[in-house]
Amino acid sequence: MKRARVGDVEVVALVDCVESYDANSVYVDAAEAVVPLSGYLDSEGRVALNFGCFLLCEGGRTILVDTGWGPEHHGLLPDELREAGVGLDEIDTVVFTHLHGDHTAWNLDRTTGKPMFPKARYLVPRADWDHYSASGSASFVRDVAPLERLDYLDLIEGERVLTPSLTTLPTPGHTPGHTSIAITSGGEHGFILGDVVFSEVDAVLPDLLSTFDGDRELARRTRLAILQRLVDDGSLVGASHIRAPGLGHFVREGTGTRWRPLA
Ligand SMILES: [Zn+2]
Repeated sequence: MKRARVGDVEVVALVDCVESYDANSVYVDAAEAVVPLSGYLDSEGRVALNFGCFLLCEGGRTILVDTGWGPEHHGLLPDELREAGVGLDEIDTVVFTHLHGDHTAWNLDRTTGKPMFPKARYLVPRADWDHYSASGSASFVRDVAPLERLDYLDLIEGERVLTPSLTTLPTPGHTPGHTSIAITSGGEHGFILGDVVFSEVDAVLPDLLSTFDGDRELARRTRLAILQRLVDDGSLVGASHIRAPGLGHFVREGTGTRWRPLA
């Protein structure tokens, strides 16, 4: 757990779990492109991915972005929330960057089948709802579809104002409805990125295609545009999968970009 501020907004990074993956399973053509970046890999050439969620608190609102990979991956989100001093019933909104299973797994209490966050509305990007209700992934059926039956679900699209400082922004490519959250408060900027960039490797090499992206070319264009924006406006960035706890800034380095973790 790590806290930071963007103007009046408190940003709390919560780490559900960390797992390492062979670079070849994360990136297309990783063998040539990623080896020179060995400083970002562990001794076995693997990329350590954070599986992070973020709390955004402003003026009595408590918003949770994504719900992690859950009990099957020994996720610690409930402990992280306890450490942050936030009760499950204090969260008024859960908003999803997208509906992959590593972002939705604490939606429901697995023993009771009831929503884990009983006083929250769960905001789901409509394009992801449409895509996964048609294709029916296992995690969608388990974690997301029940929210509609329980009347906890609201579909969102485009730019949705969540609070005076928080607005959703479509960032498609990883999934059709992939969504980020832009923070603007007191002249400062922040951005909850989701999976637009996975690790420090594709911050340095933003043209690198990822095996995890549904539409790789659209994801690449989104990644380049968003990196440019975040370097230009100096946003504090909360990234789902970049080195735990996933808070930092993208800075220009040479012709590319580098991730600078928050000290
Ligand atoms: Zn993810």
